[in-house]
This record gives sequence, structure tokens and C-alpha cells, in this order.
Amino acid sequence: MNAQSAELTNLLGLPRAELTEFVAQLGSQPFRARQLMSWIYKRGIGEFTDMTDLAKDFRARLARVAEVRPPEIVGVQRSADGTRKWLLKADAAQAFEMVFIPEPDRGTLCISSQVGCALDCSFCSTAQQGYNRNLTTAEIVGQVWLAVRELEQEERAAVAAPAAAGSGDERHVTNVVLMGMGEPLANFRNVVPALGIFLDDFGLDLSRRRVTLSTSGLVPQIYRLAQESNVALAVSLHAPDDALRNELVPINRKHPIAELLQACWHYLDERNGRSVTFEYVMLDGVNDSPAQARALARLLQGHPAKVNLIPFNPFPGTRYRRSPPQAIQRFRDELLQRGLLATIRRTRGEDIDAACGQLAGRVIDRTTVRLGNKVIGVAVQP
Ligand code: SAH
Repeated sequence: MNAQSAELTNLLGLPRAELTEFVAQLGSQPFRARQLMSWIYKRGIGEFTDMTDLAKDFRARLARVAEVRPPEIVGVQRSADGTRKWLLKADAAQAFEMVFIPEPDRGTLCISSQVGCALDCSFCSTAQQGYNRNLTTAEIVGQVWLAVRELEQEERAAVAAPAAAGSGDERHVTNVVLMGMGEPLANFRNVVPALGIFLDDFGLDLSRRRVTLSTSGLVPQIYRLAQESNVALAVSLHAPDDALRNELVPINRKHPIAELLQACWHYLDERNGRSVTFEYVMLDGVNDSPAQARALARLLQGHPAKVNLIPFNPFPGTRYRRSPPQAIQRFRDELLQRGLLATIRRTRGEDIDAACGQLAGRVIDRTTVRLGNKVIGVAVQP
């Protein structure tokens, strides 16, 4: 792995078809691409010299033009509940975050898709940072590749020193969610090839139900996604009516709820999906009343929908408070009584600011011009 060589092609950014073309240009057969992918993704090997069943001259040619380079780790934090958060380098001044959440039946890796976010949801910490750039496909795939390797190293250390081993929680990445920093559908060009590598048998070989893309509701891109991928879809709904959603999730002014829901049902029809998960952040006195629960139920009743209630995670400077537990339970009960599936997301990693909406990284905003806290203009369109 060579950290300085920007002109080398990072193979973590190439889905199988592109990798096949890449090796063809080096004069090799298509099956070499599959062999390479097996080394990279099945065995976690990034050094060409270690790929012993590849011809020596092919390895030498590869080393001159390519590399396998995940993002560089800037820092790691570990929560009392076993959640880990990694800060990863985007460039000399900026960083983004990913989080691993171990649970008894699954290990979920929450990855980022952009450095910052341009969508400005009023309850999200990433939004406050502003937006800088899209992550590349290699940076998106590289997060998973890196986490798999890091967790394997930890496991080897735990076997060597069993006393240090954790609870009965899953220690491997079994699920990937695009719920970290950024709006994945605003980075469609780089996200879709990454999804391809996640699902490819020769890639990370994850089932499509174990990869979830969460969007704030970019309607045209949901239709495009239906043509190009079939991962599980989660949608950040957060309000049962347009007036409130306009305030919480400003993209709603462009694509209101009715349009968004149409796109969701279309996605399920096209992709033969089971259901769409609707995320709903519980904000005290804002969107958490029983009447709002009933309005939400009316929107979703009769459709293959699940609601995931997320207790609001506060961050410095926010004007919102988390709904009290009784309000969250009451809200869920209203939904259950109307036949909807509804769960409450357990808050994880709060002590290290790794919970939903708390990921901030280090972002140099280049979209908005601020005067104090007030946005006074837009400098660059994302
Ligand atoms: N941009 C995408 C994915 C990133 S956020 C999206 O909007 O879906 C992942 C989830 O965390 C979203 O549902 C988001 O609305 C939610 N979230 C954001 N800020 C939060 C906060 N402070 N507390 C709880 N959930 C939050």
C-alpha cells in the first residue's frame, strides 16, 4: 500500500466489470479480476506481493499502476457499550467518521458517503458542519474493507488474551448501513458502484437485505436507484405532514411527502423488496404527539412499511430535546394499534458521540457563507 501515490488506481474503487477491463488493459484474462477480488475481499490482502497465485510479472505490473488503499485512520474511540467510532482522513484538514455497532445477532457498520452534508436537516449535527465533497467509491468501499480488517485484528488479539474479549456480541461486519455523514443519493455516481462491490459474490458478498441505504428523500434518485441497485431502502421521514417536514427536512419543499412515498412504493415494486423502513427522530414537543402518530399511521397504513423511532441525540448548539421515553412508547403504541410495524432504535455509542446524527468529523464548509450562525449566501453548489 502506498500512501503518496495519487496517480495509482485504487482497486477498492473498481466494481468487477471495471476491474476486468483494468486487468485486460494490463494484458490479463478476465478471471484474473476475480482472483484479485478474492484476495482483496475474501482474504483482506492489499499487498500484491502477497497474492501468491498470481503470476509474478502480473503482480509486478499491478504494483506499478495500482494499489489497494483504504482511508487512513486518524483516531479511534470505543464506547462503554462496545460501539467503536473511527475518524478517517479525507485530506490534510478534513476527516469523516464510521461507526461499528455490535449486537448479539448482528454487527452493523455505519459508513459515510460525503464529507459533511448539504441538506441542512435542522436536527442533524452533520448538517451544521456544512458540505465539502463527495467521498469516492474507493473511500466508501474502503471503510468496510478497513473495518473488517480492524475487527479481525482485534479478534486475533482477543484470542491471544481472552480476558480482554468483550461480551457475546457479534464481532464481524454482517450489515452495512449508509447512515453516517452525508446524503448517499446526492453522491449517486460513487455510491452505486460501491453497492455493487458490497453485493458481489467476489466482493464483500453481503445479501441485499443486509445493506441499507438511508435517504432524506431525493425522489428522482430513488427512481434511478430502482434501476441500478436493489439494496434495502430507509427513508428519513420525521414528520407526518408537509408543513412540519419542510421545517425539519428542507428537501421536502422540493419533493413533498406524497411524491416521496410514491417513489418508495415504486422502489419496492421494481426491486421486489419486502418493506421500506421509515426513520422518525423523536423530538420533544415537535413531532411526538399521539395525534401525529395517528397521522403517520394514516400515511403508511396498507403499505409495506416499518417505522423506526430514533430518540433524538443532542449535540452542542441544538434547539431540540429528546422526547421522554413515555412519549416515545405512546407514539409506538399508536402505530402498533393501527397494524404498523414500529420499533424504537436503541441508542448506542452516545458517550463517544457515535449515535445517529452525532457524526461530525472535520469538514471545511464550502457551500454556505455564514455570518455568526446565520447563513447569508451559497458559495458553491454541491
Ligand atoms: N442523509 C441520510 C443518511 C444519514 S443520517 C438520511 O437523511 O437518511 C441517518 C439517520 O439519522 C437519518 O434518519 C437522520 O435523519 C437521523 N438523524 C440525524 N440527526 C439525528 C439526531 N440528532 N438524532 C437522531 N437521529 C438523527
